[in-house]
Amino acid sequence: LKGSFMWFADLARAIHDGQKTLGLRRDNVTCEFLALQSYGDETQTSGVVQIVADLTRPVEGRHVLIVEDIVDTGLTMAYLLENLATRRPASVKLCSLLHKPARTKKQIKIDYLGFTIDDLFVVGYGLDYAQRYRHLPMIGVLEP
Ligand code: 5GP
Repeated sequence: LKGSFMWFADLARAIHDGQKTLGLRRDNVTCEFLALQSYGDETQTSGVVQIVADLTRPVEGRHVLIVEDIVDTGLTMAYLLENLATRRPASVKLCSLLHKPARTKKQIKIDYLGFTIDDLFVVGYGLDYAQRYRHLPMIGVLEP
């Protein structure tokens, strides 16, 4: 949730602009939020994932687009995709701003991808290190 907030806000507005450009009049897009916590140290997930704030509405019969900040090992998304499937959505697609393929542990289909990056820890534009740097208007590599 926190890692995606800036990117989500920009994407939501771009979807709205796209709808206007395409002349789509029916507007049934809704925005929902879900927070996942994955245990591990500050730069690496263990794959043990917990939902710490769940959706407030059912997704049954809805077309769901997950907006993720970064797919690293893929363990977090694997958990979420499996969990959402049990809620009977009409479809689920994944949109991720970043992907680090070098660290893949679980292969995940990313339907819409912004950028592929090297195996580096990045911060800014929502992404943090120990809750810091989220407010930066750009993405950068955190130097040790
Ligand atoms: P995965 O389960 O795919 O290994 O990890 C996904 C989560 O780990 C992301 O949603 C993000 O919160 C965090 N993460 C992975 N790589 C980075 C990174 O380079 N920088 C930051 N700030 N978080 C990362």
